[in-house]
Amino acid sequence: MSEAVETPFFKRPRKGLLIVVSGPSGSGKGTVLKQLFAHRKGMFYSVSATTRAPRPGEEDGKQYFFLTHGEFEKKIDEGDMLEHASYCGNYYGTPRSAVEEKRTAGLDVILEIEVQGAMQVKKSCPDCVTVFIAPPSAAELERRLRGRGTEPDDVIRDRLETAKGEIGSADKYEYIVVNDNVESAENIIDSIITAEKSKTSRFVD
Ligand code: ADP
Ligand code: 5GP
Repeated sequence: MSEAVETPFFKRPRKGLLIVVSGPSGSGKGTVLKQLFAHRKGMFYSVSATTRAPRPGEEDGKQYFFLTHGEFEKKIDEGDMLEHASYCGNYYGTPRSAVEEKRTAGLDVILEIEVQGAMQVKKSCPDCVTVFIAPPSAAELERRLRGRGTEPDDVIRDRLETAKGEIGSADKYEYIVVNDNVESAENIIDSIITAEKSKTSRFVD
């Protein structure tokens, strides 16, 4: 006697989500996402390429792929970047191949990228999920950026100036998460991902 094969009513979504996270430098993206990755399974963090200099402790291939301007431009020309942008005088971009590979393998891929790049991804991958992490206030953003102590004063001023425009673009995102507390911001993003994975549209081809 052969056992009856159970046919599920719904196939689980086969492709992982593409989650785009932006927010001003110092808003706490890295801090919140680190906690999320420590607690949530099935995620992949896309390592970006940049022409900016590594900060103390940063390693090539870990936080970023550190490239020269020439190397970066070659990758753009060869179509290797899913998106790229110039931010405070440096190039930043998302290598295309890892994102596609990991999503196909069913992992939910997080891109931590600035606004111009996020808008490019929204256009080329309309099924992506866009999340803006906002600091509670301008004063708190400045405190966090200065408190982190990773940039000299002129770079901090440039980033705070850039932040004004970024906050003005928050309404282009589907979700806004105010990071006044790391744990609650992490929980909100975790809930967004869980809900997005249950969307009807993710169950159909
Ligand atoms: P980003 O990745 O957005 O540039 P970071 O994650 O590096 O920002 O955070 C900037 C600074 O703010 C860090 O020193 C971090 O410890 C601090 N920080 C992050 N989230 C919070 C929070 N909710 N409350 C207080 N400080 C925070
Ligand atoms: P940082 O120099 O602080 O690491 O990053 C500066 C800004 O560049 C942040 O807003 C960060 O999210 C963004 N960024 C990092 N990687 C990428 C990327 O691959 N593409 C784009 N467009 N922005 C990125």
